[in-house]
Amino acid sequence: MEEVQHIALPLKYRPMTFDDVIGQEHVVKTLRHAIEANRIANAYLFIGPRGIGKTTMSRIFAKALNCLSPNGVEPCGACVNCREIAAGRSLDVTELDAASHNKVDDVKPIIESVQFKPANGKFKIFIIDECHMLSNAAWNALLKTLEEPPPHVRFIFATTEGDKVLATIVSRCQRFDLRRIQTNDIVSRLRYICEKEKIDAEEDALLAIARGAEGGMRDALSSLDQLISFKGDKVTEADALGVFGLVSRRALETLAQAILTGDVAQILSSIEMFDSSGKNMRRLAGELLQHFRNLVVVQALGPASKSLTATPDQVKVLVEQAKGIDAGRVFRICDQLADMEDKLRYVLSVRTLIEMSLIRASRIATTATIEELLRVVRALKNAGGGAVELPTAAPAAPVAPVAKPVPVAPKPAAASPAPAASPAPAASPAPAAPVAPQPPPAPEPPAKSFANRSDILNDPVLNELLNSLPGATIADIKEKRP
Ligand SMILES: [Zn+2]
Repeated sequence: MEEVQHIALPLKYRPMTFDDVIGQEHVVKTLRHAIEANRIANAYLFIGPRGIGKTTMSRIFAKALNCLSPNGVEPCGACVNCREIAAGRSLDVTELDAASHNKVDDVKPIIESVQFKPANGKFKIFIIDECHMLSNAAWNALLKTLEEPPPHVRFIFATTEGDKVLATIVSRCQRFDLRRIQTNDIVSRLRYICEKEKIDAEEDALLAIARGAEGGMRDALSSLDQLISFKGDKVTEADALGVFGLVSRRALETLAQAILTGDVAQILSSIEMFDSSGKNMRRLAGELLQHFRNLVVVQALGPASKSLTATPDQVKVLVEQAKGIDAGRVFRICDQLADMEDKLRYVLSVRTLIEMSLIRASRIATTATIEELLRVVRALKNAGGGAVELPTAAPAAPVAPVAKPVPVAPKPAAASPAPAASPAPAASPAPAAPVAPQPPPAPEPPAKSFANRSDILNDPVLNELLNSLPGATIADIKEKRP
């Protein structure tokens, strides 16, 4: 029987060159440039969450520094130095895991060996992982060497917790902050690997794995590996969702749509379904916020924006949803969802908080704001509907005249009538820009006046308009009017 040794995917597809590294272009570019210009700092510090490539980056950098026949700045991967570094047995590259080796005695061998020249390569390189775990005594022992290392010595520190590294150390290093990898970048990488491995995986399954990995490529590959072991060479979205307790992409989009259209029944039934099937509700909140954040990006920058973290299928839905709602409201919904995510940290009844917050978000999506009402009233006034004097920070767009006889002759716009009803003392303060001083009122009989906010809200014409189009924005009303 032929025996094929299984190599774990994270290991098999670990990046071997700078070109292979995904999502850390800002770091790669600087390191390449340093090698090209032969300006290698004494010490580097890579900071970032786990599984995004800090150790991989350290090894590629070490290989690039010591490679015997580099291809430009890329390590060749084939020379004895490259192979030994990749296998972790190079005499010139020492790796120390400070999570388990954090005492003075653990760093002493490093301090003692720096004086010796490298065996095969140009540099003696020390990679210290999880360096924030080193004891103060260990750091102090290293400090002298770090301040004035022999010319053939280089240090590479990596840590998940940059804040815990002493300032005296950080200031002696070139610091790089590695980013979480974007979901769509992880999806592309998973797709590439599935093609190589002849795995038939649904696109939404890959998306679910990437979502579950939260920006960590290593976690994503481990999960894919795990799913393949369970399910063989066919991976579905349902399998992947089950592993992470995530909500399916479509279910999430349906919930977002329910918020946008104010469909409270759908909101409640979605939450009921997620909760009873054991979905991770805190994750749901985070992903919903991400969806609305993407909606803001689509509205502000368009569907091709690089800031969008979405797969092509998601973008299609986002574009559709973005058409139906005013950007300001989406922004306020994001605010509401961010507030909910914040409160979820302390609250005990997670489900209730989510239900109430999403209903509130749906009201934001569908209830006319006082600013919008004011805009309509202004439009009515401009159309000759009444002698209203309201803040005119921005001139209202011209609208078709309403069917209402007005006994007023055409007049120049500058001499706009401002009857006695302008800011009445009883009126509650309108949430808009202050009124500019107006010329004295023209001697015309006021056709109609809005003395305060409740007058505005009770105006029959306005109400008729709003009621005829529930959930519509003012922009819609304007467009739909004859
Ligand atoms: Zn090489």
